[in-house]
Amino acid sequence: MATVEELIINGKKKVHSTHAKMLLADLLNLNPLELLLHLDLEVTPEVEQHYYEQIQKLINQEPLQYVIGNVNFYGNTFIVNNKVLIPRFETEELVENTLHFIEYYFPQKDLKIIDLGTGSGCIGITLKKKLPTSQVTLVDISQDALTVALENAKQLEAGVTCLESDFWEKVPGKYHVIISNPPYLKQDEEIENIVAQNEPHLALYAGKDGLSCYKKILSEIKDHLEEEYLVAFEIGFDQGNVLKTMFQELFTGALITLKKDLQGRDRMIFALKIKA
Ligand code: GLN
Repeated sequence: MATVEELIINGKKKVHSTHAKMLLADLLNLNPLELLLHLDLEVTPEVEQHYYEQIQKLINQEPLQYVIGNVNFYGNTFIVNNKVLIPRFETEELVENTLHFIEYYFPQKDLKIIDLGTGSGCIGITLKKKLPTSQVTLVDISQDALTVALENAKQLEAGVTCLESDFWEKVPGKYHVIISNPPYLKQDEEIENIVAQNEPHLALYAGKDGLSCYKKILSEIKDHLEEEYLVAFEIGFDQGNVLKTMFQELFTGALITLKKDLQGRDRMIFALKIKA
């Protein structure tokens, strides 16, 4: 039987060594560091075969996260498949900033939170894990995406409500926190091949100007805002100014904050309204 070391050496000839190690670690239920402590471990023929099949998928330009079938987001493992967007670091930043706002301005326990266009559920489920007494609703237009979100909620023991709806279409009630990472790419925007060829276009593109989903969400948002609220959106790097104008017109009396991601590009916008 082949050893871990032999499989890594062979894998490295075909794909990035980090990817080879991550695949093998996942197949052996080890983390990549533990894997390196088991270089002499003999691997069953089944695992070996599975490993080479997965290497082939990477060679065929499938994203690592889909091949492995899960991804870490903000400390939790989320199942992903090609029906949902692979969570990005920038979205962890959106969650992080949102949690800061909530901890500071909404110390009460019974917050109603809605995640519009939830995909894998990573945003809403992470918020529920961090704020266990909140009521979290996950919304998506795609039943396939909601199936993934529901499975993630189950695995992570997060008591959330899932709703199949085109943004507000079937959503009742008002919320304190409205969060979304909707599709925001322009329909002709150049993106990496591996993204365009694998990830759901429904989760990526938003019309000619990339703004159609924001317009849809914002057109009805006032019916769904509690008196005190936080709106938190992820945005495209070149959409900061236009979103800021839209926010200023709509959320009168609210504090509007545009924030950059770690790469220094506009990536998030917030509207915060609290009583004086
Ligand atoms: N962030 C996505 C990307 O990097 C764009 C679409 C989205 O997240 N809403 O391709």
